[in-house]
Amino acid sequence: LSERLGGVFERLTKQGALSEDDVKTALREVRVALLEADVSLPVARDFVGRVQEKATGQAVTKSVTPGQQVVKIVHDELVATLTGEGDPGTLKIDNPPAPILMVGLQGGGKTTTTAKLAKRLTEREGKRVLMASLDVNRPAAMEQLQILGVQIGVDTLPIVKGETPVAIAKRAKTQASLGGYDVYMLDTAGRLSIDDELMAQVEAVRDVANPRETLLVVDGLTGQDAVTTAENFDERIGITGVVLTRMDGDGRGGAALSMRAVTGKPIRFVGLGEKMDALETFEPDRIAGRILGMGDIVSLVEKAQETIEAEQAERMMKRFQKGQFNMNDLRMQLDQMLKMGGMEGMMGMLPGAKKMAAQAQGAGIDDKMLKRQIALIQSMTKKERAAPQILQASRKKRIAAGAGLEVRELNQLLKMHRQMSDMMKKMGKGGMLKQAMKGMM
Ligand code: GDP
Ligand code: MG
Repeated sequence: LSERLGGVFERLTKQGALSEDDVKTALREVRVALLEADVSLPVARDFVGRVQEKATGQAVTKSVTPGQQVVKIVHDELVATLTGEGDPGTLKIDNPPAPILMVGLQGGGKTTTTAKLAKRLTEREGKRVLMASLDVNRPAAMEQLQILGVQIGVDTLPIVKGETPVAIAKRAKTQASLGGYDVYMLDTAGRLSIDDELMAQVEAVRDVANPRETLLVVDGLTGQDAVTTAENFDERIGITGVVLTRMDGDGRGGAALSMRAVTGKPIRFVGLGEKMDALETFEPDRIAGRILGMGDIVSLVEKAQETIEAEQAERMMKRFQKGQFNMNDLRMQLDQMLKMGGMEGMMGMLPGAKKMAAQAQGAGIDDKMLKRQIALIQSMTKKERAAPQILQASRKKRIAAGAGLEVRELNQLLKMHRQMSDMMKKMGKGGMLKQAMKGMM
């Protein structure tokens, strides 16, 4: 069922609530899963605590166990935590030539990722990219990038032996401007561990290059070490994002969660192999499933929820077909419309709604109007809502006064209700209502 109707049925799906014990038991398993996925202890503890609070008292979907339900809640919370602002795959590279600084420890995958990213920017975004290796420490490091450049058809800055990294960065900038490049990528040297000399070198490069993006490339299999590396680089250099490499390995990707939780920096890409196109935009959903290692439970719960929604929809549809569309139903629609941002959201929500929305727009119906209509319905008694045809002049007066509005507006509302009701009855006969509602699921 589409999100559109989701809200309408939310209230109806509540069967029972998760008790504190249910949650505690299930979360014990989850904590183990997190630790096994290499999420650091403080992060796992904090995360589980947050979920505990959120999950207790939440509704349990019929046909799944409370434990399964908790796993689903955990999954959703994981996704929320892993999701950064904006699209991870979109780099700030307007104003050519835009410098991208690649930093990280030795062997993390900087050079490989530089080339993968250059290929992606060239092929997908049509950018002209220049790559430069600033690695003066490791023998043949510059040639490594050059060879990759030839392989993927991306230019590299000519190698000049004996230059300092700062001098290479300056030359790359000049070359990028003169050559009309959109982007130039600076692939820095790494060390086996963080030391002052390395940081000072990267700092000096950063200061001359003024990078638009500084991407930290870390081995996703190194877990907690990756997080410490990220903290250090962010403190000294300031990073704008993280690339997790070796996510094609057996690791469960817990580093991603710790990384987000500890540094707050967005994960932009994941490396999935040694090949040049083994780089993907970071997808929180996929990593969450992997961290939890309980993907089957998550989809089971989702399915169960869908089934219930479908059952509810079916029941509602049967009533609509018989013309039993009352004020409570209309109220739900109006609430939903408000939630969806007014008339726009109503499009396609119910049969005939498109036409109505257009009419309404013509008649100047907006959020204020929706709120007035809801107020009118609220002012009705239970009996009146269930059977609006009983409304006579005196009742109308009372209802309008209760909402602080005029009878004229109540009459408009009633007319709208009648039109919708008729439309559904008509469509119900031809089987069109069923089709229309199927389209929403
Ligand atoms: P650098 O020292 O940070 O520049 O690291 P390199 O780019 O030279 O990569 C070191 C090794 O890791 C190379 O053999 C790469 O092929 C490999 N590598 C890099 N990224 C990935 C990845 O996402 N998956 C796998 N399996 N290997 C990778
Ligand atoms: Mg390298």
